[in-house]
Amino acid sequence: MGVMIDREAIHRKYAEERAKRLRPDGIAQFAEITGKFAFLEGDPFTVRSERAPITGHTELLIVGGGFSGLQVAARIKEAGDIDFRIIDGAGDFGGVWYWNRYPGAMCDTTSLVYLPMLEETGYRPSMKYVPGPEIRAHAVRIARCFDLYPHAIFSTNVSSMTWSDQDNHWIVETDRGDRLTATYVTMGTGPLNRPKLPGVPGIETFAGKSFHTARWDYSATGGSEDGAPMTELAGKRVGIIGTGATGVQVVPTLGRDSGELYVFQRTPSSIEARNNAPIDPAWYATLEPDWQTKYIRNFGELFSTGHAKEDLLQDGFCNIMIGIFNRMMADSADPASVTTEDFMRAYHASDDEKMVQLRSRVDEIVADPKTAEGLKAWYRQFCKRPCFHDEYLPTFNRPNVHLVDTDGKGVERIDETGVWANGRHYDLDVIVYASGFEFNSDYTRRSSFEVYGRDGLTLTEKWFDGLQTYQGMHVRGFPNMFILGFWQGGSNGANITSNYRFTGRTLASIIAHARATGARQVETSARAEHDWVEAIDNFDAPSILGGADCTPGYYNNEGQLEGRKEKRNMGAYPKGIVGFSDYIEEWRSTGLFEGLEFRPGRP
Ligand code: NDP
Repeated sequence: MGVMIDREAIHRKYAEERAKRLRPDGIAQFAEITGKFAFLEGDPFTVRSERAPITGHTELLIVGGGFSGLQVAARIKEAGDIDFRIIDGAGDFGGVWYWNRYPGAMCDTTSLVYLPMLEETGYRPSMKYVPGPEIRAHAVRIARCFDLYPHAIFSTNVSSMTWSDQDNHWIVETDRGDRLTATYVTMGTGPLNRPKLPGVPGIETFAGKSFHTARWDYSATGGSEDGAPMTELAGKRVGIIGTGATGVQVVPTLGRDSGELYVFQRTPSSIEARNNAPIDPAWYATLEPDWQTKYIRNFGELFSTGHAKEDLLQDGFCNIMIGIFNRMMADSADPASVTTEDFMRAYHASDDEKMVQLRSRVDEIVADPKTAEGLKAWYRQFCKRPCFHDEYLPTFNRPNVHLVDTDGKGVERIDETGVWANGRHYDLDVIVYASGFEFNSDYTRRSSFEVYGRDGLTLTEKWFDGLQTYQGMHVRGFPNMFILGFWQGGSNGANITSNYRFTGRTLASIIAHARATGARQVETSARAEHDWVEAIDNFDAPSILGGADCTPGYYNNEGQLEGRKEKRNMGAYPKGIVGFSDYIEEWRSTGLFEGLEFRPGRP
């Protein structure tokens, strides 16, 4: 039995709150990283030492040393006979976890499935949900375990990639004057790698210290990513703009260490309990060989359907889905024949109840009623990224922490001495931007370099109307290039690392097949790509993530109409995460590589 709630009144309130936040400029509201903020293109964590330009040929160039590139590189290394290099703008492995060193950074997906290759590296995570430094250390561990450092070219940004049909290879140029050639390239540039800033007037004029959370400036704050006190903030007036998943993780430490903290909020996040706990070594030792495969599959099943034979994880994301499934079963007269409509009905019903509970939770924790009111999320839980945190809400009970609720309007402008919001000026010494990352901008803008395929076709042109791929990995017109993304593939967005689990093996098999058949060019057929994209275009099952009626955010293209382009950019294999991994395993193991053309190329 559900609790008695006035669902119509709730939905009216959702619509009112959404209307306050809709703006005609949509994703164009965010500012480019230029001028004073161009430092965001640099690296505050590693001094870039001078070196001579690199030239020469490698069979495979892996672009990106995050968890996609790392997993691929590990499997390629395992294959043994493929010469490869890994290139990354960062000074070390880790991808987003290299850059996002803000205090309090943590992964909201259970470490047992998020951290790849736990068995092979012999690592036991310390906690169910682990902090950023532990995740970054694990990236380094994988690199060491598979001896990847000798293959790495760090602190180097690719500036262009050009296919030579004449020579059957890619020409890769960098910002260090390198000119490498590679028979094959993989693109693991990440979905949330390019920081964005609020496009408010005056943002460049602030005279104090300011930085984005993805480039935390410890010289301005003191302290460390391990949580050491940020002594430079003592007695300072600090403002943070942004209350998404990042802001929620940063605010508790900023609240602890700042003289006064002003949290500028446009839309509150929904906050569930974190319930973190150490991983018991005795229990961990009982796990059977290949347990992680089973756990990752279990996560995939639970996250995509809310149902599996068992729940091995009790993960926060999965729990939301399990709640929906259970609700559907409870409401259904005939559990054997539930439909998508039944699922969506159950989702809406259970979500309304869940959000009532989460709003009550704010009242239970936050002492000041006005602050509590401001922190309540008035939208469906999956309109924005659900958050899980046990210290965020209590932080607003500290006398030095002030919620500046802008009632959906956001900050108005910034001047030399602080931030304007609600018609009032806030004097600040430091501004932290927890304003997120580009998501729906062009792929090549986010990767920061152009890719020139056959006959000079650019990837920007090819994807002008949204992604077009075969299996999310192969792109017609771009031979020997493999995208390491998750869109148009299995798309496990709640456990991103698992999307790349088998990619390295797939790639090693493709390269082995090309060698065996004497092919110098591998490319998806036009038909295979067309059919794949058509299936995504025609897939109309309702999704619980985002939605046109949701409050604006990056899940729904900031509330702007989502057309074919957005659908293609965020589309997934219609049979879901687990279906995709079964499909791709089967596809690879047949050795037929259906949909790919292996051509001799020019000798
Ligand atoms: P988001 O895009 O989710 O949040 C940006 C925040 O900035 C929002 O609160 C937004 O408000 C606010 N904002 C933007 N412009 C203004 C303005 N003019 N005035 C006031 N506020 C403004 O970015 P995050 O970095 O928080 O998170 C991005 C993603 O990164 C997450 O969704 C998640 O996928 C990932 N992440 C994952 C973690 C993990 O557990 N692995 C941890 C942290 C992040 P509004 O909501 O109104 O748009």
